[in-house]
Amino acid sequence: MNYTVNEKGFYGDFGGAYIPEMLHHNVNELKEQYLKIIESKEFQKEYKSLLKDYVGRPTPLYLAKNLSKKYNSTIYLKREDLNHTGAHKINNTVGQILLAQKMGKNRIIAETGAGQHGVATATVCALMGLECIVYMGEIDIQRQAPNVARMKMLGAEVRPATSGSKTLKDATNEAIRDWIANPVDTYYLIGSVVGPHPYPDMVARFQSIISEEMKIQLEEKTGKNYPDKIIACVGGGSNAAGAFYHYLDNPKVELIAVEADGLGVATGESAATTQLGSEGIIHGSKTLLMQNSEGQITEPYSISAGLDYPGVGPLHAHLFKSGRGTFIGVTDAEALNAAYELTKIEGIIPALESAHALAALDKLALSPNDCVVVNLSGRGDKDMETYIDRMPTN
Ligand SMILES: *Cc1c(COP(=O)(O)O)cnc(C)c1O
Repeated sequence: MNYTVNEKGFYGDFGGAYIPEMLHHNVNELKEQYLKIIESKEFQKEYKSLLKDYVGRPTPLYLAKNLSKKYNSTIYLKREDLNHTGAHKINNTVGQILLAQKMGKNRIIAETGAGQHGVATATVCALMGLECIVYMGEIDIQRQAPNVARMKMLGAEVRPATSGSKTLKDATNEAIRDWIANPVDTYYLIGSVVGPHPYPDMVARFQSIISEEMKIQLEEKTGKNYPDKIIACVGGGSNAAGAFYHYLDNPKVELIAVEADGLGVATGESAATTQLGSEGIIHGSKTLLMQNSEGQITEPYSISAGLDYPGVGPLHAHLFKSGRGTFIGVTDAEALNAAYELTKIEGIIPALESAHALAALDKLALSPNDCVVVNLSGRGDKDMETYIDRMPTN
């Protein structure tokens, strides 16, 4: 079995580049250049140097003793929450900003839902002195005021998307329109393993630093460079893709992807794409997505803004359909419990997204011999308002 993308940009039945004629030039330019540039020695040297000194990598692989005791197995946390800006997203934006520079692009556009990718993009644009325009749904701008403030302080222009439901997919449409209108100087910086080929492959490569480090750290700590299970939450799927990447072809490692059941899959208020979704095209890629019988995208829901996405990257659709990945759903309430529990017993406040991955521990039959890595994709600072509102009273 092979889980890397083929020449046409497909993972099994999923992926490709379903884009309007007017985008062919931009996407082809990227497709022709990305591997040549990112595999070059010069690029790798700059990228790894920024990951080390700017992002703060390698992130620790932490043996969570209290959590291990609770589940009677060995549980490690890959601490992506300790990265600069508080999550894994910066691994990708640092990579793409270097690529944009090498391609001679000096104007960066992005879309953002919760604002996390917008902040990670505005951060690297400030670092490189590049113009940054972030499209964001008008409703999301109201809901995510602290991230809007961060982007502005970092020098980005936040442009409201005022059409449709005024959320992420409308912001995406605006960003694509902008890219079509500005094909020469503009680079479109996508935040997850979604979008037309080559984005899913490129973003997975940038996030693969997570499992690259994991191999070395596990070897050091356990004498074996792989765990029995890796658990990661899936919005678009980039932190999971990075945590799985170097183990995709190792059948000894169970790959567990956790999606947001929201209020429950039967309630109509969830983002459980593999359970509720069907094949279709979103954001230029053929994949699984939540849609009605007319092919209209269903508005997703999750308590965690980063998992509130109606699709899933094509790699994950392939892992699901081929059976290589195990997909588990976790509700808002289960994720909240897991977040309070980790905080109480390990002194680590996780992001709500990452709390979904932690909650999956309850749903696995773990044995004392199991070595498990949970990818802690981000820290909980951004979620404090929710955590305080929902704090258990006893
Ligand atoms: C954005 C985000 C996610 C979801 O995005 P993926 O592309 O699925 O990784 C998960 N965790 C955190 C902390 C995030 O900020």
